[in-house]
Amino acid sequence: MGRLSGTMGASECQVLLRKKRGGGRKSLKCVGGEGGKWFKECLDMQIGEGDFFKFWDHCWVGGKKLSERFPRLYRLCKNQDGFISNMGEWLGEVWEWKLEWNRELRERERAQADELLSSIKEINLHAGMKDCWRWKHTPNGLFSVNSAYKAFRQARSENGTNCEQMDFKKLWKAPAPHKMKTTAWRILKGRMATCDNLIRRNILAANSNSDCILCKSQLEDLNHLFFSCQITCDLWKEILSWIGIQTAMQRTAKENFLAFSNLGDKVDFHFMACVWICVVWCIWKARNDCIFSQASWNISKVVTEIKTRTWSWTQVYKQMPQSLDLKSWMIKPKVIE
Ligand SMILES: [Zn+2]
Repeated sequence: MGRLSGTMGASECQVLLRKKRGGGRKSLKCVGGEGGKWFKECLDMQIGEGDFFKFWDHCWVGGKKLSERFPRLYRLCKNQDGFISNMGEWLGEVWEWKLEWNRELRERERAQADELLSSIKEINLHAGMKDCWRWKHTPNGLFSVNSAYKAFRQARSENGTNCEQMDFKKLWKAPAPHKMKTTAWRILKGRMATCDNLIRRNILAANSNSDCILCKSQLEDLNHLFFSCQITCDLWKEILSWIGIQTAMQRTAKENFLAFSNLGDKVDFHFMACVWICVVWCIWKARNDCIFSQASWNISKVVTEIKTRTWSWTQVYKQMPQSLDLKSWMIKPKVIE
């Protein structure tokens, strides 16, 4: 925990948050467009004796820099770089503003100067107290990594819908066959004909066998089949180890896709989205083969199918990693630098 000095900026905050989260610059970008903007919104300026904040260049009154609000006066003032305390003097215990100009102001400029003075006259300077930044998310105004992390998480969840929409749009841009993207999209939307869904829609009788065909021990619903079933979790693990990534398994389709497609900046986004699309598509196909063709689950067959299919996309789509022969690709797709 610490007082925020003038040198503490958005980039330092990003570093701290990144350390805490273990990566994820993309997530910061989701909050209000960029992390720096979000960080600044978490700070209040506390004006003391006006010795730290610049009169024209800090945004200390009215939500905008005075140099931007009154550009003509800014050009005419004598001390463009001055602190707030340089723009007036104490008369006993009362602060009086005294702005100095390079020449006498004309009528229109005087009106602007009056407007400027009326907007700052309510601001009280405090003799003997230093200017400082106050962190909004702790009662004492002192910055702490924990409070920043909590605030960041909250802002992120409030912006969650936008982030999701943005990331799900990326699914359609992924260099993969359209029919497979459509299946992936239906999974994200919860629109697959899994047993629970068919029973809910009275397509299957309520007393039908609704066990997961793969593990045969739990109800087959969408999140179970694709992301919680022990059998498919083993498949995900194999695929992640092929790519060279370790990560916790998210148990819902949306969380899983978002986590997967945002796995660090170093991993090529198109590749990750394609692998995700291919894995869920192959799970669905294998599940249908088990139900309708009495096939049995064979993890190494599915793994091989995922590897060969994604390799074939590298030959077709320029956004995919290039120049590996199939044999090398099967061992390691080399997408991590
Ligand atoms: Zn299962």
